[in-house]
Amino acid sequence: APRVDVLGVPVARLSFEQLLRRLDEALRAERERPDYYTYVNAYCATLAARESPYRASVSRADVVYADGIGVVWAARLLGGPCPERINVGPIELGRIVDLCAERGASVFLLGGAPGIADEVARRLVAERPGLRIAGVHHGYFAPEEEAAVVRQINGSGAALLIVGLGPPKQELWVSQHLAALQVRATWCMGGLLDQVAG
Ligand code: UDP
Repeated sequence: APRVDVLGVPVARLSFEQLLRRLDEALRAERERPDYYTYVNAYCATLAARESPYRASVSRADVVYADGIGVVWAARLLGGPCPERINVGPIELGRIVDLCAERGASVFLLGGAPGIADEVARRLVAERPGLRIAGVHHGYFAPEEEAAVVRQINGSGAALLIVGLGPPKQELWVSQHLAALQVRATWCMGGLLDQVAG
């Protein structure tokens, strides 16, 4: 997708439907590293302006979508059309995991306080029995546990890794482990797991 630089972050000009189609392709493809998606809103933009490691980790994403109307307008002013604000809420998450279920692609949920990802998994599967959750892990692990978390994800056979560690942690984590992650796609979702477990 075409991109435009907003405060040093390459924002993709695409719609949620286009992003879903990209995920669909990524789920089928054998690639050397996962397709990586994340978002920027006004809070992220100020964080990116201040913290260059965060900015770099966001910029490594294959798709950085505009999750804030301010970012949508900035993208439009600076670089032409940006179709819409993309906010991945419970409904969008439903579309994403429906696609995974349809494709036989299993999902790993990483993030939130202990118990949150388990609850989200239960709820998602209760609504769609065809969905396979490959595994879950809470988001409060120590640096020395990181390798074990990556091993658990890789051993799970997950195709999609959903990461809900909040910015900047989620992007720093994904960017650090991207080359080692044996999944087809990884998607940063901020506090969405809390919202869904709610
Ligand atoms: N989170 C986590 N590990 C951390 C820090 C945060 O799993 O070390 C989770 C937190 O439980 C929440 C999500 O990351 O589910 C987003 O947290 P934050 O408060 O940064 O989020 P936001 O305001 O973007 O929802």
